[in-house]
Amino acid sequence: MSGDHATVAEDEYLQTLYWLYEAGLPMTGANVARAMQLAAPTVHEMIGRLQRDGYITRASDKSIDFTEMGERHAAEIVSRHRLIERFLTDLLGIPWDEVHEEAERLEHAMSPVLEERMRAAIGEARTCPHGHPIFAGSRIPGVPLADVAPGAKVVVLRFENEAEDLLHYLRAVGLEPGLEARLAQSDADQIVLEAVDRRCVITRSVAETVSVTADPSPPPRVALPEQLVLATQRYGR
Ligand SMILES: [Zn+2]
Ligand SMILES: [Zn+2]
Repeated sequence: MSGDHATVAEDEYLQTLYWLYEAGLPMTGANVARAMQLAAPTVHEMIGRLQRDGYITRASDKSIDFTEMGERHAAEIVSRHRLIERFLTDLLGIPWDEVHEEAERLEHAMSPVLEERMRAAIGEARTCPHGHPIFAGSRIPGVPLADVAPGAKVVVLRFENEAEDLLHYLRAVGLEPGLEARLAQSDADQIVLEAVDRRCVITRSVAETVSVTADPSPPPRVALPEQLVLATQRYGR
């Protein structure tokens, strides 16, 4: 038990900060506002609250850092979110493009006993159905699919943005974490992947949000902040 008492709103901000942190993006109020699609003053107020409650610190240049308690709490809530998603797909058979917002609701309401049962139920699974590690520290580095050159072999690692409309699109075009394919074509508008059993055509802007491993690989590059809008419906309050 962490012994702290974050509100649901604080949990959601901590979760967003953790996503930025994992993606290698600067933890700033501006990036949080962009990811959550909230106005700057709203975010500013909540950042102040997180600081007062001891979850984060702020440097003179406005950059945000987790305190030890803040990082532990954020990692817990993110892990729980991914665990719930995996439970919903694998145990309840819900399609992977429909579980993110369910998990957003459930993650705040679970008892430690239920969480323990869910962890046992998912067995060997180590990621959420979108490829994000359930256990902190096990994130595999990837490159944006948009950067990969034609002819390269790719394996889809994860979808960096879990907004449900984006997940619906990714599922409809046939992409999924673990998919192995050859990059057949890459131009200003779209990327074409050829796998054994399918051909996936993805817009370049969406390909910016898909992390892959590639051979040959382009140089590492972090996602762009505007591509990490996490959930438009959920946060539009
Ligand atoms: Zn999710
Ligand atoms: Zn996920």
